[in-house]
Amino acid sequence: MSRKWLVVAVAALCVPAAWWLVQRMGSRILTVTPPTEGISRTLATERASNISAVRYTLALNIPPRKEEHIRGTLGVRLRLAERAPVILDFAQPAERVSSIQANGRPVPVRSEHGHLVIPGDLVTSGENVIDIAFIAGDAPLNRDDEYLYSLFVPARASQAFPCFDQPDIKGSLSLTLQVPSTWTAVSNAPEIGRDSAAERTTIRFGQTQALPTYLFGFAAGRFSVERGERNGRAFHIYHRESDPARVAANREAILDLHQQALEWLESYTDRKYPFDKLDFVLLPAFQFGGMEHAGAIYYNAPALFLDETATQSQRLGRASLIAHETAHMWFGDLVTMKWFDDVWLKEVFANFMAAKIVDPTFPNINHDLRFFLQHYPAAYEVDRTAGANPIRQNLDNLREAGGLYGPIIYQKAPIVMRQLEQMLGPDELRDGLREYLTRFAFANATWTDLIEMLDRRTSEDLAAWSRVWVDEPGRPTIDTVLESRNGKISRLALSQSDPRGRSLVWNQTLQVALGYDHGARITTLKMNGASVDVPRVGDLPLPHYVLPNSEGIGYGLFKLDDTSRQFFLAHLPAIGDSLTRGTVWVTLWDDMLEGGTTPRRLFDLMLAALPEEHEELTAERILGYVRTSFWRFLTDAERTSVAVRLEQVLRAGMKQAATTSLKSAYFGAFRQIVTTPEGLAYLERVWRRREPIPELTFAENDYIDMAQELALRDVKGSAGILDEQHRNITNPDRKARFAFVMPALSSDVAARDAFFASLAKVDNRARERWVVDGLAFISHPLRRHHAERYIQPGLELLSDIQRTGDIFFPLNWTGGLLAAHNSPAAAQTVKGFLDTQKNYPPRLRQVIEQQADQLFRAARLVGS
Ligand SMILES: [Zn+2]
Repeated sequence: MSRKWLVVAVAALCVPAAWWLVQRMGSRILTVTPPTEGISRTLATERASNISAVRYTLALNIPPRKEEHIRGTLGVRLRLAERAPVILDFAQPAERVSSIQANGRPVPVRSEHGHLVIPGDLVTSGENVIDIAFIAGDAPLNRDDEYLYSLFVPARASQAFPCFDQPDIKGSLSLTLQVPSTWTAVSNAPEIGRDSAAERTTIRFGQTQALPTYLFGFAAGRFSVERGERNGRAFHIYHRESDPARVAANREAILDLHQQALEWLESYTDRKYPFDKLDFVLLPAFQFGGMEHAGAIYYNAPALFLDETATQSQRLGRASLIAHETAHMWFGDLVTMKWFDDVWLKEVFANFMAAKIVDPTFPNINHDLRFFLQHYPAAYEVDRTAGANPIRQNLDNLREAGGLYGPIIYQKAPIVMRQLEQMLGPDELRDGLREYLTRFAFANATWTDLIEMLDRRTSEDLAAWSRVWVDEPGRPTIDTVLESRNGKISRLALSQSDPRGRSLVWNQTLQVALGYDHGARITTLKMNGASVDVPRVGDLPLPHYVLPNSEGIGYGLFKLDDTSRQFFLAHLPAIGDSLTRGTVWVTLWDDMLEGGTTPRRLFDLMLAALPEEHEELTAERILGYVRTSFWRFLTDAERTSVAVRLEQVLRAGMKQAATTSLKSAYFGAFRQIVTTPEGLAYLERVWRRREPIPELTFAENDYIDMAQELALRDVKGSAGILDEQHRNITNPDRKARFAFVMPALSSDVAARDAFFASLAKVDNRARERWVVDGLAFISHPLRRHHAERYIQPGLELLSDIQRTGDIFFPLNWTGGLLAAHNSPAAAQTVKGFLDTQKNYPPRLRQVIEQQADQLFRAARLVGS
């Protein structure tokens, strides 16, 4: 008996009359720790060491009406290393279990904190079969009148059916669905048979490979199916789009992008696609961008079915999303993290691979710039806040796993992975990953497993590097020290400091640019101490600027000295190198948030720079900053004084843009900032189809967006505009969404208050995207004064949101609630809430601190 088991046994003995105590009937029975709420690390560790060879046979009977119960039967085959009570997860009341049998013998139903416990005397070491008849929980099944889809990540399968809901007990699934005969269905494995009767169809799917429960997925309902083939590989696209032109315009691109991603990954990993087939399910209001169910990837339909007005970022975003989910088939699905504390590992590989896959398919894009703009600003948004989290986070219970997700995993981790590739070299990293996939195929691994494998391939101390970059939150502050003598440089040094006072040192490679009339002089150096001198710059003339992150590699808060700041504010558009220009924009934004450049000064630079910015990605980034600055960082008086010029600049941009996608980006920005009577009259004419914009063809979504903006501005007859828009929507899913958000757009405050009050009820929060849209509408900057009353109750709801919603909901909810505000009163409400909640869950506190950071800064900068 190991020391650990001794402790467990003693702890168990202290619980009087607990029925899971050591039970001796014949052979010795191992004790297990009594289960608690959720899936604790203790439970997971004990189970994983004793349970293997799991096979689920699941049958669900799906009625036509979503109000009726889904009844199911489950057979679980499993092998026990030692005889011990078997704890299955089923987070439903005991009444939902009608019978349990273990190896053919009836088992009394005992539900303990969301777990079913099969006593040790009814199982045996070796093979066992457990049969359960039950009523499925609806929450993770996203039931609608015409369709449903499961979404189990990170540990919600056990809300639907009994299972071992942890990533390192992989099992195969053999699924049978009985559905209304007008429905179709898709799941991880191929369909292997179907029986049709008058009203009902039974669809049987083959047995999957070993998968963790969070990757089980099925969708059923009224879906249209597109079949396509590439290089002998068949794909199916399940969707609910009612506009055939929209399907036709996107179908081939969706298939091509998947095929390209598959081919690239098979070559990079030297391993064939690991599953039996690959289908795609495009859902109208899917909670995430995509979800990598093995063999059946889900997508948010609008991310793949693009309109003609899609911007370049949206087209690149689609390619990246497809590459990301496809990469998961190897990274996450074939090799899975052992515990969700390493969930970042699958996400970083998916994003990192996605960047490599997408680059060659868009040859005209500056990919270094794109990587920079796609990752750094979003990572900084979190890393500059008091609520910043490390990439790798400790996790004691899977019910907290949702809180791990966010920009640090999706945006900072790929930056760190690029550093790792730089340290190892691309070939060594690839070979290391091949070894990792081979060794852990259809099994589980940790970050430590990988680092140990890679450490053998380099002389660098990867473990030490990982401790700072992966295990700690935040970023270094990097200052420039420039000393001169007789108008020449005598010394140039960079120093780093830890704004959180931990004295951490972030080792990284930096490219320091010194700007001169004829261009920049760039020195690459290793920042591997508190201060580093830039070599070979003595006696150079004094530069216009010093920029230590000119190539978009360095990560941190780069403090500008005043000479450099003034130069950029006067001459930024004239800097020829796109990547340098892109990094300066992000650096100036940081500078503004830190109280350096004033918001107004930066805003003026943006308006001056836009007409000259021909790099589309950078123009889109500036347009994003323009929107945020206009609504959040300018005072009311400043906003009024710049409105006419801003609209002129954006309408001119629309006219002059060289591509449809950039025109569309300008129009999108205009729609969101328009405030003048002339601008609003123009927008209304466009919405009424009385003023076409050359080369821009609008789709239903575009008209919906315009109607929403017009309503938010209380234009004359705005209620009629909303009604007319609602009548004009042909797609039923879009119509349902619009009906849901209409009260949130109303000019009647009582309707908006009622909308907000309705969100207290969990049933009204079922469509998370709709809820977040509605929250953003009632809190729109033009209505934010009234909306301050929603902040306190909205924050009070957050723990309930986390308990009942999917993984991104707490983050998005808080974002929708706070994103428009900038007043000291609003900031005080959030601070007051945090101050009074002494025992608030730390992860939720982080979410609030992250989402409120810009509000706090805006309140300081404009609120006085
Ligand atoms: Zn992912």
